[in-house]
Amino acid sequence: MKYLSTRGHAARPEFCDILLGGLAPDGGLYLPEHTPRVSRAELDAWRGLAYADLAFEILSRFISDIPAADLRAICRQTYTAQVYCHVRAGDDAADIAPVHWLEPGRFGLLGLSNGPTLAFKDMAMQLLGNLFEYVLAQRGETINILGATSGDTGSAAEYAMRGKHRVRVFMLSPHGRMSAFQRAQMYSLQDKNIINIAITGMFDDAQDIVKAVSNDADFKARYKIGAVNSINWARVAAQIVYYFKGYFAATANNDERIAFCVPSGNFGNICAGHIAHQMGLPIERLILATNENDVLDEFFRTGIYRPRKAAETRVTSSPSMDISKASNFERFVFDLSGRDPAVVRGLWREIDQGGAFDLRGTPHFGRLADFAFVSGSSTHADRLETIRKVYERHGVIIDTHTADGVTVAWRHAAALRVPLLVLETALPVKFADTIREALGRDPETPADLRGLEALPQRVDVMAPEVETVKRFIADRVASE
Ligand SMILES: *Cc1c(COP(=O)(O)O)cnc(C)c1O
Repeated sequence: MKYLSTRGHAARPEFCDILLGGLAPDGGLYLPEHTPRVSRAELDAWRGLAYADLAFEILSRFISDIPAADLRAICRQTYTAQVYCHVRAGDDAADIAPVHWLEPGRFGLLGLSNGPTLAFKDMAMQLLGNLFEYVLAQRGETINILGATSGDTGSAAEYAMRGKHRVRVFMLSPHGRMSAFQRAQMYSLQDKNIINIAITGMFDDAQDIVKAVSNDADFKARYKIGAVNSINWARVAAQIVYYFKGYFAATANNDERIAFCVPSGNFGNICAGHIAHQMGLPIERLILATNENDVLDEFFRTGIYRPRKAAETRVTSSPSMDISKASNFERFVFDLSGRDPAVVRGLWREIDQGGAFDLRGTPHFGRLADFAFVSGSSTHADRLETIRKVYERHGVIIDTHTADGVTVAWRHAAALRVPLLVLETALPVKFADTIREALGRDPETPADLRGLEALPQRVDVMAPEVETVKRFIADRVASE
């Protein structure tokens, strides 16, 4: 399988070539040259597979430059009940992504937050850790991953890369601005290759430093600086698997159809659902849910894509969805345009200059009905009410992001005649303040994470200065 850029660059790299990189040279995003179609016979054969073997079958359609036996071994090493152990009572950790029905056969949660950091990003990031180690060993290379985090992404990356050979992680976080639980998750890691840097500033300061370092081509090449951000194709590919898994778990046979509702920020998670649909998975509806930062909901309702300024981005109680523009959205618009890179180039010329685009009245927007999408948004008050109702009716505590999903899913459920799964993107203990506000009680802490906040922590506190961070990285790399 070869990969193309959504903006039309001539190069056609393979999977391992784009695994460690980010954007295509022309600023576009990578997508497979064609979307593999899954036959009915394949669907029938896959229905009974364990998660790791299903992951192998699906990923091998997108990865032709890793031998099959090696890829299967990587999938089996990644998707184990030991890694994805944080399931609810009654759910089976061996399912990896278990369905937890609220209304049996009709409305359920697809549990994607059972990994080490209790958020769905572990589903892809754990695979990435093993793929990185494998490909770097093959090529005799090393990488220093540099990132900035306000919570979920950084910890998922650290837990995926801890102890991996040839990989170091330098993760910047805003000093004193994460929850005590999030701090403990990251700073208590004692692995030598995980280096936490607390910046005495805001998240934006940390992100600006990462951008400045990555824009210094000499430094980047000399110190082999890389990233694992949300536009990474391998992360999207790994996420396709659980749409198939959820479909098989929620239906009795492959004549049935299904709907998914996805709490969305950067459009990474639901982009994988879109690709599963394009592959032929019988998806009736993909329901996109946002919080008050509703740039994506606005597009699916109106055809206007209008990224917000940083100052217009609201701080909400579902913070991992607080985005001003959706970095993976370009992949969907490429398909919506009939895979025409000239169209994407034109539209993103506007976006990259801080503008917007309007597809109303274009043939592209006319084609939207072919793609199964609908959308909605919710507010803090909606989340509180939904968390309360789900707890009262079903005795289940959901997190604030999943609550965005359930709120929007309920609005669409009456019109659907197929099972509806809401993707559970985090466990409630990560957002305990809002759970207390909604229910007047604390969510449960998984047994193996009790006492986490009392463990010794390792972090270097640093002024928000690019040169200081660069010197620190250079010293660390030179000293090992
Ligand atoms: C990252 C994240 C999201 C948003 O996912 P996207 O792929 O950016 O759309 C939703 N919920 C949680 C808990 C997350 O960590």
